[in-house]
Amino acid sequence: MAGPLTNFFGWLMPLFVIFNADSINMIKKFAVLLLVGSAFTACQPKIIHNNEAANPGPAATTSKDVHTQCNADSIGMKHLDLNINVDMEHKRISGCALWTVDNTKNKLKDLKLDTYDLTIDSVAVDGKQVHFTLDTPVVHLGRALHIPVSKGSRQVMICYKTGESARALQWLDPQQTHDKKHPFLYTQSESIYARSWIPCPDGPGIRFSYDARVTVPKELLALMSAENPQQKNDSGIYHFKMELPVPAYLMALAVGDISFKSIDERTGVYAEPGMLAKARYEFEDVGKMVHTAEQLYGPYRWGRYDMLVLPPGFPIGGMENPRLTFCTPTIIAGDRSLVSLIAHELAHSWSGNLVTNATWNDFWLNEGFTNYFERRIMEQMMGKSYSDMLWELGYQDYVQAVKDFGEKSPDTWLKLNLAGRDPDDGLTDIPYEKGSHFLKLIELSAGREKFDQFLSGYFNSHAFSTITTEQFLNYLDSNLIKGDTALKNKLRINEWVYGPGIPANCPMAGQERFAKVDEERRKFLVGTAPGELATKEWSTHEWMQFLRKMPDSLPLPQMTALDKAFAFSKTGNSEIADLWYILSWKSGYEVAYPAMNAFLSSVGRRKFLEPIYSTMMKTEKGKIYAREAYLKYKNNYHPLAQESLNKMIFGK
Ligand SMILES: [Zn+2]
Repeated sequence: MAGPLTNFFGWLMPLFVIFNADSINMIKKFAVLLLVGSAFTACQPKIIHNNEAANPGPAATTSKDVHTQCNADSIGMKHLDLNINVDMEHKRISGCALWTVDNTKNKLKDLKLDTYDLTIDSVAVDGKQVHFTLDTPVVHLGRALHIPVSKGSRQVMICYKTGESARALQWLDPQQTHDKKHPFLYTQSESIYARSWIPCPDGPGIRFSYDARVTVPKELLALMSAENPQQKNDSGIYHFKMELPVPAYLMALAVGDISFKSIDERTGVYAEPGMLAKARYEFEDVGKMVHTAEQLYGPYRWGRYDMLVLPPGFPIGGMENPRLTFCTPTIIAGDRSLVSLIAHELAHSWSGNLVTNATWNDFWLNEGFTNYFERRIMEQMMGKSYSDMLWELGYQDYVQAVKDFGEKSPDTWLKLNLAGRDPDDGLTDIPYEKGSHFLKLIELSAGREKFDQFLSGYFNSHAFSTITTEQFLNYLDSNLIKGDTALKNKLRINEWVYGPGIPANCPMAGQERFAKVDEERRKFLVGTAPGELATKEWSTHEWMQFLRKMPDSLPLPQMTALDKAFAFSKTGNSEIADLWYILSWKSGYEVAYPAMNAFLSSVGRRKFLEPIYSTMMKTEKGKIYAREAYLKYKNNYHPLAQESLNKMIFGK
């Protein structure tokens, strides 16, 4: 195929996607919440469900956050002082959250905060104990905590403990860590899980600064999304400060046997000691990456940029916790080939952490912008033919997501409607890929220079605030389109934002490097020995393209020849391993199964687990295999990964 298509018309190639009429309907049934009156703390939690249909149809255009029960939008909650103890043995966090409030404007009588599986021991307002109540639990949302307040109330102190079902917390026994010597704890608060370890206003639209005092066993180090220590101390007591306001989903904590290594004056890496040197090698270019990002869209505003490499059970690729990205060890490939994930998390320092989606229905404003920004960083650092590969692989994911949902599904709109559902249901390739392709289209239509100026202005003028889709579209209209009807017509904004599927003007990436890969695959399929293929300079992305576009299954001699030439069953690269195990399963290539089992037992990243298990679930024999493997390995997975795999494998 032709080289990179550098002009606008080249990008706007017509799109021919054949949709499978039998597309799997991925839309799940979700209980819709009912909010009922309050119940006392002594009540046994009882989840309220009803069976109203899941997908509520066209996306909402309101800015109401339906995933928080708090009323902190009516009462100022600007600062949190957190004082907690982390009990690694009993797997429990306990302590007090002291909120500074300002009730002078609306004079509320009842402050409502989000909680999930928390035991509330006591509540005091300005030093005086008060009678609090907890609502009956609402599915997904937890229990609203009611606290009586008055106009003059200044401080609300809540003392509490976490429960066994705290969705944000993963407690690892030593054998589940890399070094296998000490227990480990980490949090994942996005989207609405902060409430399972801190009683808080848990909506992305509410920001606060925080100070924290965290007590941990003396042999362990604690880290947060804040100013962090670089080494352990003798007391096991650590103090943290985040003076910039952040939403609750960016609250983060990790506790473990963790060491630090610096990269440059403002970047560095934390990891278990046995993983540290490898991680430091892999992230060599991250300092440069921060400079590259700054050249694109303005100063990095968070002080340090450090990364924490977590044990392998981490359910996602990375989490953009401010000042301290949490990331999966599956990106430590040994050849720095998967660091675009770090570019992504770093880009969130602008899109997401600095300018935040007001509700989870506007999630594409976080992820679409970040995906776009990530690829611009990678283009700057590695060249256009490299970032074109990222765009193309992303486009393939977009096509697959639309196929899975159904081309008319409202879940393929950019503006989502997640009312009554778990906001994590919106965490699909749609906000990431449809969102970033929409921005690419704007760039190509308006011109890169103009679009970059617009984006810098957007990040600046909305710094430390939240934004809805509608506010963004208004801003786009007044600051970029500015009455240019031809440009507006070219973009077809409504089709992208309030319409399903893949709009016909979706930009396509250049194919310079993938065209060569496609040619080598073609040669292999017509009989060329794998050793004779021109694969020498291939990056991970080329190998992904090579494997992704293979036929559904291959004859065993071809599988054997590929494995012999490229040692796929022994690869330490999880992107390649994942695709190889799927192809091996479909081809019945049992030689790869022990390696696949080892992978399933040690990797907790949903991106890799779900495709392997779902491939197995397509046949009766596979279902038995998947169930056995899952039951054996599930304790190594995060509760969030277990939740989605339970649904897939056992339907519950
Ligand atoms: Zn992201």
